[in-house]
Amino acid sequence: MENPFIESSWTQQDETFELPLRPQLLHDFVGQHKVVEQLKVSIGAAKARNEALGHLLFSGPPGLGKTTLANILAKELKSHLTITSGPVIEKPSDLAGILTNLQPKDMLFIDEIHRLPKTVEEYLYAAMEDFCLDLLIDTGPNARSVQVKLNPFTLIGATTRSGLLSSPLRSRFLYQSRLDYYDPESLKKILMRSSHLLHAPLSEKAAFAIAKRARGTPRIANNLLRWVRDFATIHQIQKIEEENIITALAMLSIDHEGLDEMDKKLLSTIIHLYQGGPVGIQTLAVAVGEDPSTLSEVYEPYLIMKGFLKRTLRGREATNLAYEHLGLQNPHNHGDCT
Ligand code: ADP
Repeated sequence: MENPFIESSWTQQDETFELPLRPQLLHDFVGQHKVVEQLKVSIGAAKARNEALGHLLFSGPPGLGKTTLANILAKELKSHLTITSGPVIEKPSDLAGILTNLQPKDMLFIDEIHRLPKTVEEYLYAAMEDFCLDLLIDTGPNARSVQVKLNPFTLIGATTRSGLLSSPLRSRFLYQSRLDYYDPESLKKILMRSSHLLHAPLSEKAAFAIAKRARGTPRIANNLLRWVRDFATIHQIQKIEEENIITALAMLSIDHEGLDEMDKKLLSTIIHLYQGGPVGIQTLAVAVGEDPSTLSEVYEPYLIMKGFLKRTLRGREATNLAYEHLGLQNPHNHGDCT
């Protein structure tokens, strides 16, 4: 069975489920201490000077809290937040429409900002730096440029691929924060809070068992909790214990390291079809029947973090740990330090 809890970066967010679980204040935001401390300073300074907050960029894999932080910032600063995403803004006029509607100190959140078309991105430079837009009106000999003044606003960019961001755009962000995968203790705290909000009583051990299998990602942790809650309802379980988690998650083929069927398919394909690698991402994507960007944005970062996969210039390689995890002997023994 395919794991329904792994999402690609821009799809499969169940807002009706996520909305009540989203922390509203910085105080409720668990983990990411460095980022939270930086934000406290920036928020405090913006409040003290009664100014718009400087532009911020959040990067990191999907489901780690970038949108949640944007919502929290708006709440903390009592600003209005407009949410959009890079691929939705197709033309400079789309961007102009959004920017000219912003009131002083409003916040604009652009998700997947690395997917903004180049022509749109160039308009954003002056908007971010000078709060103005140079619009080209008409074409041919009648073409003229009109400068439109904008209200001071805060741009919050989010990206799963910070490497794809152009340096002119990146340099216009005053704060750049990278969100990291969460440790199981932090995920446990998030799960205890969610179980309370969802009226799904969970023992601490059970929360930790989910946390260890949630790929360091709050969204996946919450989604797994939703599955476990369904499981508990069907089996009339009043308080969810560790053994219930193990049974419920085994039904999704999620193992004790949080790897699902696609992770294992990916590793075993590299090992069996390509002798442990290296193999290029395009070839690998065809072999496992998945989109290359989903592989590199969703699956690979966790496998790399756990030490099962290496990204090299020549392609992807399975590590000794991957062989061990799949119960296989590595005939080449690459000599990696896993
Ligand atoms: P991203 O924008 O990075 O894809 P989101 O901000 O949409 O991720 O977060 C996904 C879900 O995970 C949210 O609904 C929220 O409930 C939960 N979440 C994320 N980070 C945290 C956190 N630090 N504390 C509590 N819940 C979190």
